[in-house]
Amino acid sequence: MPRISRRIAAIEESATLAVDAKAKALAAAGQAVIGFGAGEPDFPTPTHVVEAAARACAIPRFHKYTPTPGLPELREAIAVKTARDSGHQVEAAQVLVTNGAKQAIYNAFATLLDPGDEVLVPAPFWVTYPEAIRLAGGVPVAVETDETTGFHATLDRLDAARTSRTKALLFVSPSNPTGAVYRRDEVEALGRWAVEHGLWVVTDEIYEHLVYPGHQFHSMPTLVPELAERCVVVNGVAKTYAMTGWRVGWMIAPLDLTKAATNLQSHSTSNVSNVAQAAALAAVSGDLEAVATMRAAFDRRRLKIHDLLNEVPGVSCVEPEGAFYAFPSFKGALDREIRGRRPTSTVELAEVILDEARVAIVPGEAFGAPGYARLAFALADDDLVEGVTRISKLLRD
Ligand code: PMP
Repeated sequence: MPRISRRIAAIEESATLAVDAKAKALAAAGQAVIGFGAGEPDFPTPTHVVEAAARACAIPRFHKYTPTPGLPELREAIAVKTARDSGHQVEAAQVLVTNGAKQAIYNAFATLLDPGDEVLVPAPFWVTYPEAIRLAGGVPVAVETDETTGFHATLDRLDAARTSRTKALLFVSPSNPTGAVYRRDEVEALGRWAVEHGLWVVTDEIYEHLVYPGHQFHSMPTLVPELAERCVVVNGVAKTYAMTGWRVGWMIAPLDLTKAATNLQSHSTSNVSNVAQAAALAAVSGDLEAVATMRAAFDRRRLKIHDLLNEVPGVSCVEPEGAFYAFPSFKGALDREIRGRRPTSTVELAEVILDEARVAIVPGEAFGAPGYARLAFALADDDLVEGVTRISKLLRD
């Protein structure tokens, strides 16, 4: 018998974390590494949120277990916030507070999927989705997209990938890793198509507030209310309030699904840390000033990185529409000699770039998209310019 179960042994190491670890090790050894790897805002959590958590530490109620699905006042505030921000009307009882949006994704697929059930996942995709689907016994079915549609999944391709085993569609807009933001008509058409075929939609709205001029966020169940009975909304405080380390997310689903997922969570992690929940309560009940400041900085950097990347030999990049990721093609930079090496894949190219230019980027293989790479522009403006300039010089040499 194998020491590690087949189920867990099949999980692939996160390439994002692997790049990050190598970059951090180089930085710890005194190297001036510029990291485009991290998927988190480079801003501190707003002060009023930190203060709310500090106050909660002193309140005995927060020292105890509380209900698995979350503090009642937080679930209520999430329902109110959801109506405020996306127009989706939900009850507090539909909300399950989770350890980050990541656990919401795990809970959602574990609760929805039986062995062999297929989930359509537009590619390039965030690495966690296929792993969460597989762990639940499901089968992720990648549906290719490319720059000709700005990495937006089209109905024809989705429909071509649909089978009698298809149970759900994974939808994320703004997208990690491509930065794509779907237009209103696209979101509505996909939602109607899902309703027509009786599919569930797991829609990840974590980047809802990171959308740049000319684009707008649209929540699928708001545009297609009939979808609500087969829709799971995933969200959290990580990106909007610069709270990645606090680990608070949530899923909003029909009552039966929320109850079932709560049972699952009651046997895995129970309630999310109450202090973190108190912080999340302050965040979602407050205004959106902090994210407006971050969005302005990200917007400036997005335009800069887009311009700079398109000047790099062999690289072309579509303009990111949301989130904080650029997803350029490096196809024109492959199979060429760089400092005595000849990278033939973006995995190899990312290694060369890290070794020779001390710049960390995440190869597209991690997202089901060889030939591309993801560069998070959640870093200081000067570092961003320096980082892309180093890549450019290396590829020009
Ligand atoms: N969804 C997407 C699309 C993400 O990019 C991330 C974070 N990288 C998450 C969910 C997970 O967020 P959390 O930190 O709340 O688990």
